[in-house]
Amino acid sequence: MNDYEKRIEALEKKLNEVMELNQQLITEKQQDLNLNYAWTGNLGQWYWHVPSNKVTFNPLKITVLGYSESEIPDEVSYQYFTDKLHPEDYEKAMQIMRDHLQGKIPVYELEYRIKAKDGSYRWYYDRGKITQYDENNKPTMLAGIVFDITEKKKLEEQLSELSFTDGLTKVKNHRALLQILEKTARLSVAGNESFCIALFDLDHFKKVNDTKGHVCGDMVLENIARIMKDNVREKDTVGRYGGEEFMVIYPSTHLQEAVILTETIREKIEKFQFPCDVSATISAGVCESDETSTIELIRKADTLLYKAKNNGRNRIESC
Ligand code: GH3
Ligand code: MG
Ligand code: MG
Repeated sequence: MNDYEKRIEALEKKLNEVMELNQQLITEKQQDLNLNYAWTGNLGQWYWHVPSNKVTFNPLKITVLGYSESEIPDEVSYQYFTDKLHPEDYEKAMQIMRDHLQGKIPVYELEYRIKAKDGSYRWYYDRGKITQYDENNKPTMLAGIVFDITEKKKLEEQLSELSFTDGLTKVKNHRALLQILEKTARLSVAGNESFCIALFDLDHFKKVNDTKGHVCGDMVLENIARIMKDNVREKDTVGRYGGEEFMVIYPSTHLQEAVILTETIREKIEKFQFPCDVSATISAGVCESDETSTIELIRKADTLLYKAKNNGRNRIESC
């Protein structure tokens, strides 16, 4: 190759670089223009240019987090957002992005929490995709949309809470009790420590309904639940097992301690002045966990409860 040819080749190379850069700039400019579409309601867009690690996005994504536009750096990197991820969501988000960049999954898609300026978290649903590759088939550009789903998440949490709460007494319902009992049993096996349950049944409750009416009966149940809650520890769970039957789950507790706690509840109820001039007592069966299933444990507590009834009511029996 002579000098002239060498110069031509160098110029060609330079021209190619400039053209590539120009193409990139045109694309980025278009993407900047795209961002002029307003953040409609809770929806925003983002673009991530991988080689320069520059994220272009609608400023609203940041201003809803409590930052003013002047606080947003001129160049925002991918880490600007990921550094604000909730610790419980961080690894999952990273893994999904890695999987997408490596072509293992066709889209980057997940829900995560981002820390706002005031320390609270907002929920987002994010969905993005690689839109450009370089000549070596390496991803150079990703584009995505992001929804603020904080309100939806709040509603979901409230609904979930509601579906595990007893409507009348506001303590846990049957479904919640069984779920918490299963979890308590799992943790107790893992931690190699015992737990206890107490199954309660109101004494002669039918008579309260028959003589004072169901409205009074309902008030008695509400008060019973409150007395139970007021006399257990933070870690214990109070729930309504059925009609006038309640259960308390005592995690990390031996029988002796559970009996004392249950006895306190029995006494408080016996002494309580209920509305409608009703006095009420309660019987209970208390049981410590063993190798058997949670269903078997409930069955045992039920048998003890039956024994307490037979032995005169207003008393507790334990295994
Ligand atoms: P025992 O001491 O043997 O348990 O007698 P008891 O009268 O409590 O037992 P029984 O099973 O005969 O009656 C239970 C009563 O509980 C009957 C039912 O109407 C009442 N009950 C169950 N759920 C509710 C409720 O939500 N509200 C009211 N007011 N009463 C209820
Ligand atoms: Mg009953
Ligand atoms: Mg009863």
